[in-house]
Amino acid sequence: MKEYNPFGLSGKWVLVTGASSGIGRATALECALLGANVVVTGRNESRLQAVCDELDRSEEQQHLMVVADLATDKGLDSLVRVVDNLDGVVSNAGIARGNVPIKFLKDDVLDDVLDVNLKSHVKLARNLFKKKKLNKGASYVFTASISGVASFTVGNAVYGMSKSAVNAFAHYCAVDFSSRQIRCNAVCPGMIETPMNTGEGSVSQEDYERNKEHYLLKRYGRPEEVARAIVFLLSEASSFVTGHSLIVDGGVSVPVN
Ligand code: NAD
Repeated sequence: MKEYNPFGLSGKWVLVTGASSGIGRATALECALLGANVVVTGRNESRLQAVCDELDRSEEQQHLMVVADLATDKGLDSLVRVVDNLDGVVSNAGIARGNVPIKFLKDDVLDDVLDVNLKSHVKLARNLFKKKKLNKGASYVFTASISGVASFTVGNAVYGMSKSAVNAFAHYCAVDFSSRQIRCNAVCPGMIETPMNTGEGSVSQEDYERNKEHYLLKRYGRPEEVARAIVFLLSEASSFVTGHSLIVDGGVSVPVN
């Protein structure tokens, strides 16, 4: 039987940022399973190495790992320097710094969140495009969030705003990069079970459980469920999709009467 898989990524080079953990790790693993050569990048060398070792590899596949802090120009430059001929980028690195009402918002939190969640994505896209590191027809995917587009919760202003901006930026990239047939989209996940939601500064266990009731599916998502939406956007299966925000939120943003 002839092999037919429009979601396949064989032979493509895909860069995944924030690949050492959570959604980025799951995305890197899915991409490798679907045949891609994957460039994984993150800050923590040992965690990144562990992900790199986990990546599926056939004889034809090669993977690359780059340790870089993308909130710094040095980190961005070191990453951009070593990558080339990319067919896909998953601009995914991000941080959350806990829920704080606007009146208690600290300047350093505002700066940190915007540096990582917004500016690093803008600069990476600019530098990759400017330095011609993206192949014609490539696919660029940003990880935004439902909290930036449809679900506004108490104390989440800065994080939500950063995601709103990155979602808008994905659409602007779609416009600018179309000159090279490069498609640009965003995914907007609801709450996903990753270290981001279970680590320091995250909500109490009680609130974490109670909040699930707002989801039509009565649960949070798993990292691979976002990864597969990202794979769709990276693959030929979405060849006519650009400037789109794909909501992957278990129905939390559906207005229920
Ligand atoms: P995570 O904490 O498991 O992973 C975040 C990754 O980003 C890590 O690999 C981390 O090292 C990397 N990172 C952070 N700062 C960085 C920097 N300065 N330079 C380079 N890498 C950096 O969290 P996750 O849940 O997998 O988050 C991935 C993305 O998904 C983030 O952009 C997050 O905002 C977004 N998101 C997460 C959820 C959720 O509920 N988990 C929901 C919506 C959107």
